[in-house]
Amino acid sequence: MRFTRRQMLFNIAAASGLSFLKSSARAQEVLTPVRSQANHIVWPSKMPSPIDRAVEQARDVAQSEGYEFSPYGLLVNASTNQLLDVPFRLSTAVLRLGHTDRFRGSLSFRCSDPNAVMPPPYEFSPKDDLYESHLFEITLRREGQQVITIREEISGNEFSSNVIVASKREPKYKLYCGDIHIHSQWSFDGRGEPDYNYIYARDAMNLDFACLTEHDPTDNIWERIKAKARELYQPGRFATMSAYEWTAHNLGEGHKNVYYRDWEGPVLRSNLVPGRAGTTSAADLWAKLRKAGKSGKTAMTIAPHPAAKAFPVPWDHYDREFQRCVEIYSTWGNSESSAGPRQIQYMEGSAQGHFVQDGLAAGQRLGFVGASDSHSGRPGYPAHSRLYYDSDYVRWEPELYTGGITGVYAEELTREAVFDAIRNRRCYATTGKRIIVDFKADDHWMGEEYKSTNAPHISVKVTGTAPLASVTVVKNNRDYFRVEGRGRHELEFEYGKTEPPGETDYYYVRVIQEDYEMAWASPIWIARP
Ligand SMILES: [Zn+2]
Ligand SMILES: [Zn+2]
Repeated sequence: MRFTRRQMLFNIAAASGLSFLKSSARAQEVLTPVRSQANHIVWPSKMPSPIDRAVEQARDVAQSEGYEFSPYGLLVNASTNQLLDVPFRLSTAVLRLGHTDRFRGSLSFRCSDPNAVMPPPYEFSPKDDLYESHLFEITLRREGQQVITIREEISGNEFSSNVIVASKREPKYKLYCGDIHIHSQWSFDGRGEPDYNYIYARDAMNLDFACLTEHDPTDNIWERIKAKARELYQPGRFATMSAYEWTAHNLGEGHKNVYYRDWEGPVLRSNLVPGRAGTTSAADLWAKLRKAGKSGKTAMTIAPHPAAKAFPVPWDHYDREFQRCVEIYSTWGNSESSAGPRQIQYMEGSAQGHFVQDGLAAGQRLGFVGASDSHSGRPGYPAHSRLYYDSDYVRWEPELYTGGITGVYAEELTREAVFDAIRNRRCYATTGKRIIVDFKADDHWMGEEYKSTNAPHISVKVTGTAPLASVTVVKNNRDYFRVEGRGRHELEFEYGKTEPPGETDYYYVRVIQEDYEMAWASPIWIARP
């Protein structure tokens, strides 16, 4: 007996106890419910990124052949949503590891859109050395998803951009990516001029938004942070915010990054420098924010590196109005759970009971952001060394990972819209690549809370920057439903489940690419009325 594809799907669905609604043609046959615990996946202790592996291979070859190894990587980035026939910026940033020479490659360009207006071949020269990057201009002529590939003519290596979505009209919510946790030399342990950090984020990484988050700044530095954010702010091109890191030491409160929707806000320091503290606890920080006239609409705090043993974030208390998100990933590593790849190694490793999943289990309603927490002068992705900015020889620090970024869905690229998107948890984290993640339940966006008597209808669409290994829907911290990638760059699926909903269920999405880059979409909470 032969089944039609649709019948087959329903048979698979019936066998697995799932009521199957829709999925992309190529994804549907591999939808698999995950019946085991969250720790189902066995991870290697460290999963290297492709750049890690390329570096290791190059180093091995160089060592055996007796020459200095010099792998160059190129990061090719553009903002995701672009209008047809309107020129936009494409950045090419060099990752230079283990070498003193600056990159001098010749680049040629091609695009999946055969009618795209592309730059002529280009040779990197000394004028590109300051930021080790170059901005090009592209115009797309064909609607849909497009990718630009850059070929380095000497090595023959090719580097692809993220997926750029070209349309005739702008969608209501555009996807913008940024890095909201950066330390410059205005922090005791940071590097690089503040301008350098910002311009690197804007032009080398081609990020849409960024902000400096210096450790407990002095009044003087705080004035300069706010002034610098204002100076670099370009609505529609580059959004900045007034922000700092509340850097508690031995308070058992973890750190808190404080962000203001307006330019102005108080600097409420913790106890990093004795005698300079204005607050004695996280509760005191939140109380003083209120006293200063701030509410959750105009100020928010985000807990960075929550699982780091040196500064673990407690989950037994929080301020639901101010504390809207948690930094699930940064250059220090992954704070999702003890089961994931890229576990924290610096900062004494990770602390049991302080992972993001522990916070969710404790009832905290936290969206996910990713950031670099860069101290190297080079925010965004390339955090392979804390000494990147002013070091001729870029050291390899295997305990550091690439910097993360946050994707937000916002109506426009302004400081307020980016703040509101993060506050509303309409945001997700990645390990630094512009992976596109769309996750909804009953047409509610990632990050929302709502009430329903029925189990949700969940829809997920992921567009990777490399073939996807898997996309997993996590329910109440358990890996619940997984789609294997099998070489595909894009997976789209929807499903509904027949089991009755719990009192409050939360769902989030974890993406793993074959190159071990990852993304996590903020949870959606569904309560029974
Ligand atoms: Zn910190
Ligand atoms: Zn920090």
